[in-house]
Amino acid sequence: MDFPKWTIATAAAAMRRGEISSVELVRDLAATVAARDGDINAYLTFDEEGALKAAAAADARRAAGEDGPLLGVPVAIKDLINVAGQPCTCASRMLVGYTSPYDATVTARLKAAGAVCAGRVNMDEFAMGSSTENSAFKVTHNPHDLERVPGGSSGGSAAAVAAGEAVCALGTDTGGSIRQPASFCGIVGFKPTYGRVSRYGVTAFASSLDQVGPMTKTVEDAALLMQALAGEDPHDGTTAQEPVPDFAAALQGASLKGMRIGLPKEYFIDGTDPAVTEIVKAAIAKCEAAGAEMVEVSLPHTEYAMAVYYIVAPAEASANLARFDGVRYGHRSAAADDVMSLYCRSRAEGLGQEVKRRIILGTYVLSSGYYDAYYGRAQKVRTLIRRDFSEAFGKVDVLLTPVAPTPAFKIGELQDPLSMYLNDLFTIPASLAGLPAISVPAGKTAAGLPVGVQFIGAPFADAGVLACARAFEVVNLS
Ligand code: GLN
Repeated sequence: MDFPKWTIATAAAAMRRGEISSVELVRDLAATVAARDGDINAYLTFDEEGALKAAAAADARRAAGEDGPLLGVPVAIKDLINVAGQPCTCASRMLVGYTSPYDATVTARLKAAGAVCAGRVNMDEFAMGSSTENSAFKVTHNPHDLERVPGGSSGGSAAAVAAGEAVCALGTDTGGSIRQPASFCGIVGFKPTYGRVSRYGVTAFASSLDQVGPMTKTVEDAALLMQALAGEDPHDGTTAQEPVPDFAAALQGASLKGMRIGLPKEYFIDGTDPAVTEIVKAAIAKCEAAGAEMVEVSLPHTEYAMAVYYIVAPAEASANLARFDGVRYGHRSAAADDVMSLYCRSRAEGLGQEVKRRIILGTYVLSSGYYDAYYGRAQKVRTLIRRDFSEAFGKVDVLLTPVAPTPAFKIGELQDPLSMYLNDLFTIPASLAGLPAISVPAGKTAAGLPVGVQFIGAPFADAGVLACARAFEVVNLS
């Protein structure tokens, strides 16, 4: 498939030169969606009328003399981020018919920068999954091979960008949901430091892990989106006061020369697909050739990360999803005859299997008698995982690892939950430690499937991670 070209940077430049208006850009996109999305299924809804209105407003702002990197640029929004007046289903039957009464902070910031919220993209229900197959509505196909998954949970975002059905998109990442689909679809996906971007108005999965981030065709675009998204928010007490750097400026002249790049030995393990290993090794060689110093490091508690995540994330999810009970929010069963059966039936009918599994797991690990044994211990191990990283960052500037153990797998291929969870082996540790991490396209397998490489940075080294990814992108393309 031949994928079209608009990036944020090229679209903004064309609008600045008067070669295209935002309205024309949205029309162009709508035509691409109409032509391709029947095969890809990235969008849940593409509100052409609403997008055209917002685009016309952006064009008017430009005509009045305003300019900016996102002015008039359409952004596809993962279906768990609130945009006032648009649906927000989280790809769940539970929220069919729900209309957002307000903008998430990230939405408000995009709008202030003049971006156009153009369409809601598919995801795993409530962001639980690694393939987007857990959507209650449709299965999204990988644009590079329609028989394969786009990854998940931000699979709609990744597929839309990769197929040229979106200029760029927002995703969320709790344990890898931006980075793994970015790797599977051959795009850039950046998970910021926890606290860098507001979670206000973003449907919560696991509040101590969730972060919104950009999914784009280039690292430059990721930096441009980050500039609008990042910063303290009075509506989200977990956002950091840390000043927001100039992300785009940090990319200027970015170089790998003299950088110390750590290779954590726990991430180079048997069981990784040989095609992935080969591409990641080639990436390492390119970094070295560009003057980086590669240093083997150890993150000894890595092997516990998966277990810790599957205690902490479900625990938080079970609390966060309690609100979807047919009374406060969501689908209300028509078959109930008392309050207890109303709760039970509404949740039984409204929620999918994986979501129920997580709620049951989470409720179990938080229940009295088990709390200390599971949740309490998991929190302690999480601290050890965090410490491993801070020790490593005493020796190196960034870490380089694979993103996922395999390229995109076939739709329907992974049936048991455990093998699906294994996808997140290399992305979960940075999530538990709250670190900035990016997936950048590194190469393709013989079968033409994209594979990304991951760079992980120290807390609030978001600009440094982007700069490193930009430098890699340059040497990798040349
Ligand atoms: N795949 C992981 C999970 O199912 C991560 C999901 C995410 O980051 N939202 O929990």
